[in-house]
Amino acid sequence: MESLYRALCGEDQECLRETRETSRFLSELDQIAKSLEVHVDKSPAQYVIESIDVERLRREAEGRGVPRQLVDYVVRRALYFRFGGGGVGGRCKNCGDPASLVVLKREDLGIYERQRTVARCVCGSEWEFEMWRCPNCGTQGRDSFDVYIYSDVYILSCKKCGYKFGMIEEKPDLHVMHFYIHILRWTLPSGDT
Ligand SMILES: [Zn+2]
Ligand SMILES: [Zn+2]
Repeated sequence: MESLYRALCGEDQECLRETRETSRFLSELDQIAKSLEVHVDKSPAQYVIESIDVERLRREAEGRGVPRQLVDYVVRRALYFRFGGGGVGGRCKNCGDPASLVVLKREDLGIYERQRTVARCVCGSEWEFEMWRCPNCGTQGRDSFDVYIYSDVYILSCKKCGYKFGMIEEKPDLHVMHFYIHILRWTLPSGDT
């Protein structure tokens, strides 16, 4: 985590202190997300977000004190808690967005270990995926990406469409990590490293 914090904050001590408290802060946001009333208001669409009244949810979240920049995040979490996870056509079934993180999972099957790759949306939704594949345009192969490494976090930038996403091994604080990767993707330098 520490290297990721430094990538975000540099040596800004204020930023580093706030960042370390994020885990607790995200739990508080989750409590709000779980308490939002989510109704399917419109006719069912491809993605859940298209069949609910997003503006009403945004207003409700803001009314509960969620900072404006994080309102969309809380709405997406609310959809995940209400409808669970999964993918539709390679995108998150809740948010309609391509994955922002690819997670390598090891499953212990007793005699041997199996590795599985899933795509993950910042709402918490997961679906089956492949390594070295762009969640946005589908381009495949290790050579198709510029890779930035922050200790155990890889940020991949697709050479074809420019989409950036994280790649990481599963870990207990995965969601907090994902939240940062979601933010970090947009603060990366545009050149190669
Ligand atoms: Zn989602
Ligand atoms: Zn791409």
